[in-house]
Amino acid sequence: MSQNQLINPESLSAALIVVDQQIDFQPGGALPVTGGDQVVEGISDLMHKFKTVVLSQDSHPQGHISFASSHKGKKPYDILSLDDLNDSNFESQFSRDRLINYLLSIPQHKQTLWPDHCVPGTPGWEFDPRLPVEKADLILRKGKRIDCDSYSAFQENDGRTTGLAGYLKGKNINTLYLVGLAGDYCVNWSAYDAAQLGFKVIYDYSLTRFVDANPTNANQIIQRLKFSGVEVKNTSAA
Ligand SMILES: [Zn+2]
Repeated sequence: MSQNQLINPESLSAALIVVDQQIDFQPGGALPVTGGDQVVEGISDLMHKFKTVVLSQDSHPQGHISFASSHKGKKPYDILSLDDLNDSNFESQFSRDRLINYLLSIPQHKQTLWPDHCVPGTPGWEFDPRLPVEKADLILRKGKRIDCDSYSAFQENDGRTTGLAGYLKGKNINTLYLVGLAGDYCVNWSAYDAAQLGFKVIYDYSLTRFVDANPTNANQIIQRLKFSGVEVKNTSAA
């Protein structure tokens, strides 16, 4: 396999990180990513090859801060920003103080709002059933705090650690192979954070799909990852 040039899946110092390969992110799900189901077979093959496999699972309580439905007048894919707090018509189920604290704690002080998705116990929260979940050494549930989103598997959007880096370093793992959904959000931020945390990171462009597949967006994401020290495999972009 070509990825053997970049990584040996048999190595005890390498891990496969499968990000959020859940029904809600695949076509027909609540927050569908175009082509998100096309990567499942390739990811399943890798899960059988790697010695260490981690699955992340987006897991939000009802009424999560990232849901458009939690903020009156907001639609999915709108942006929540500090400007909204100056609007006297703006209503949210979160207090003004809580929203200010959250927005000040996250990159660019902006939160993209999403359709309700990945609520534990709903069908969309489940992994694609074709994934050999029994191969996972760890299932990391993220985004569980009602007032904080978590794109990255390594740290929540306000910077609080998920503990994943410590888990991997405790197993002497230094090389990570990232796949899953979505390439411009959770895989992107996971790869970026992992590189910042000192891991050698390979981001497999062929085994991810983007929420915003516009080539300009894709190029920006890939460029940023490359400049951050992430190795991007099989890219036609950038
Ligand atoms: Zn989410």
